[in-house]
Amino acid sequence: MNTSRATPTSSPAAPAARPALRPLDDALAELLTPALPLAGPETVSTFEADGRVLAEDVVSALQVPPEDNSSMDGYAVRAAEVQHAGTALRVSQRIPAGSAGSALEPGTAARIFTGAPIPAGADAVVMQEDCEVLADPQGFIRITQAPKPAQWIRRAGEDVMRGAVVLSKGERLTPAALGLAAGIGRNFLQVARRPRVALFSTGDELVMPGEVAPEQMRPGAIYNSNRFFLRALLSRLGCEVTDMGIVPDRRDATLDALRSASQAHDLILTSGGVSVGEEDHIKPAVQQLGSLDLWQIAIKPGKPFAYGKVGPAHFIGLPGNPVSSFVTFLLLVRPFLLKLQGASQVAMKSVTVPAHFSWPRADKRREFLRVRRNAAGGLDLFANQSSGVLTSAVWGDGLVDNPAGQTIAHGDSVQFIPFSELLS
Ligand code: AMP
Ligand code: MG
Repeated sequence: MNTSRATPTSSPAAPAARPALRPLDDALAELLTPALPLAGPETVSTFEADGRVLAEDVVSALQVPPEDNSSMDGYAVRAAEVQHAGTALRVSQRIPAGSAGSALEPGTAARIFTGAPIPAGADAVVMQEDCEVLADPQGFIRITQAPKPAQWIRRAGEDVMRGAVVLSKGERLTPAALGLAAGIGRNFLQVARRPRVALFSTGDELVMPGEVAPEQMRPGAIYNSNRFFLRALLSRLGCEVTDMGIVPDRRDATLDALRSASQAHDLILTSGGVSVGEEDHIKPAVQQLGSLDLWQIAIKPGKPFAYGKVGPAHFIGLPGNPVSSFVTFLLLVRPFLLKLQGASQVAMKSVTVPAHFSWPRADKRREFLRVRRNAAGGLDLFANQSSGVLTSAVWGDGLVDNPAGQTIAHGDSVQFIPFSELLS
């Protein structure tokens, strides 16, 4: 039996009072207060604007569709002239999409195609499946289904009215939003500047994949995982990343890295070294150069988290354990970066889903469990919820937000936050 971790029977000095753990919502509110929108919005091509945060209201100078048009390939008619199935009409013109056509001659039909403007006088479209093209007399059709007035017509302005705000300042641009902006003629958009983020990992145990082959790893060494997902998470949030690599666990190296990162960056983001062990140099280094609030947040995974300033730059220190680092990024850094970009929606949205697992041990901290939706509409739990097991975040497709002190029984409704919500 390993007794090296046995609790000592007497302690050499009076133990320092442990700081109270801070509720996540309080920590988040405190973190977002100094996250003031970055100055200097920029104009980008609509092609390049995916994921960026709008810095203007986008107002439509025209209506969409610009005029009434057909939603079917068929024939435009006056409904009053086709009251009965079997009515035959002469085809007096042909209007493909992109051409204008002319007023519909009374007593005739216009051949029309999807997206083509409805000719003046016509008030319904009969789809071609409900028409027969007659051989005799030539140039006539017989309508086999009497139309209802207005059928298969898309109304002018039914999508966008002239003068409407189609996209609002603070909205994050999605692919559909880019299409809508283009649809009202906008090839450039004003968006928030990209946050400039300096990223580094701490830890003398860290080795970069590619530098040392797996079979040559020295004892105690591990590959640097956090650097990879943090870079990817940052770029998904529209950041310009300066990747400073791995900084050794030494005070001087940490000070140098922080000093250089504080130049020309909006945020310095680090992983590891943020606890209070002797090998954790982040805390004293940030305190020496600027100011630091070290928070023990009442969440699991992810207790240690630090916010501060180094010169003009914001500083955020994430825990080293990969799942803790990943989850605290999603819960805290993501809203922080969105707020820097002036986003109006920074809170994460959860949905209520039944748990198809049980979680019999309540924790003092609010927990974020890695789960996956199953085909039965419930959630399965990844078996190993340890903060070092990154497989849980790959296997899972979201987090269960479980309040402190709460157990979960099979079938209970729980709050689920899909990664699709957090990773975009
Ligand atoms: P720390 O917060 O520095 O005490 O690290 C906590 C745990 O996370 C240790 O087991 C570290 O080896 C591990 N860790 C720290 N940084 C990384 C990283 N970049 N990639 C993978 N594991 C890490
Ligand atoms: Mg470390």
